[in-house]
Amino acid sequence: MLTALNANKQLFVLKREYVRDQLLELRKNEQFYCPQCQESVQLKIGQVMIPHFAHKKQSNCQQAFSEGETTIHLLGKHQLYEMFQKLQFKVQLEPYLPKLAQRPDILVEREQQQFAIEFQCSTISIPQMETRTIGYLQANIIPIWILKTPKHKHPYKDGVQQIKLSPFNQQFTTYIQKHAHIITFDPDTAVFLYFSYLMPIEGYRFIAHVQHLSMGNQQFPFLQVKEPTEVEFNIYWRLWKKARQQFLDKRLLISKKGVQDPFLRACYFMGNQVEKLPLFIGIPVSNKVNFSVFDAEWQMLWLMFLYEQGFDLSHISSDVIDGFRKRFPILFINEKAVETLQNYNEILKKLGVRQINSDFDEIALYQYLYAQFLAKG
Ligand SMILES: [Zn+2]
Repeated sequence: MLTALNANKQLFVLKREYVRDQLLELRKNEQFYCPQCQESVQLKIGQVMIPHFAHKKQSNCQQAFSEGETTIHLLGKHQLYEMFQKLQFKVQLEPYLPKLAQRPDILVEREQQQFAIEFQCSTISIPQMETRTIGYLQANIIPIWILKTPKHKHPYKDGVQQIKLSPFNQQFTTYIQKHAHIITFDPDTAVFLYFSYLMPIEGYRFIAHVQHLSMGNQQFPFLQVKEPTEVEFNIYWRLWKKARQQFLDKRLLISKKGVQDPFLRACYFMGNQVEKLPLFIGIPVSNKVNFSVFDAEWQMLWLMFLYEQGFDLSHISSDVIDGFRKRFPILFINEKAVETLQNYNEILKKLGVRQINSDFDEIALYQYLYAQFLAKG
């Protein structure tokens, strides 16, 4: 941690402007205590690590458990704290919030609203993150989670592209006007990286608008990436079609179950070649991943199910959806999947699709995708 109480119970912040000699002097002459448990803490001044306070080894303090803090986390906290100071907000570093028994990395106040900034460098479990988020919200504090920019083989270039986000990274998604965004920060370069207007392809893969923003240009509330232009949307459209086609081309080859493969059977049963399925099979519907398979797969199975059962898209009751779910339970990851399926039906209706060999309006599909993932709602 970067803060501690001195002997007079005053909060001491280890600002970056202290030079090594000053700190050595301080350590000789001052005693420091943990703001949370009041135990005495050590001022660590190493050659490699950023100077910080640490509990003694046998401490039971909650804070002590999170002391595997990395240099990058300490550096990030310094930078974000200084940024809010420069922007002239009321800001506190690691303040202890007794009600929550929690210490956000940074607490910043704007127009009487407090924001907890959590800069996340190590993995945190989904339930843990949810608990902390709920705690903040109950205390009327808005939490903002910032992920450390994920390591990537080649530096990201700005613009629309396909990216991969691990489930851990996906936890940091926030929704602005229904569109999905992730904001990350890299202390090594002092640059924010935005993954905006996320369109899921499958599992870890997304199409995203990637944008760098140096810390010097950041504001608060954090700047948002502009709505993609028509030219940029055309790249989304092209990348989506390409990813979908690649999936279909490969799908025949990767089938492990042969003739038992439900998806291939469905294509065969309906008299469709896998690689020539109409474009309305494989549409991204939700900006979360709710099905265990690629969109084209569950959508094909759904259309076949309707055909087999003799249902028309204009009359889909929840019983029909239940029947489908019982038939293919493995497809449904979560409860949201049902809603996604209903939304898919609505899209098909709008496209004028009644069954699998229907003609459809490709321009309407283009417009749907634009409205769903990019347009201001
Ligand atoms: Zn403590």
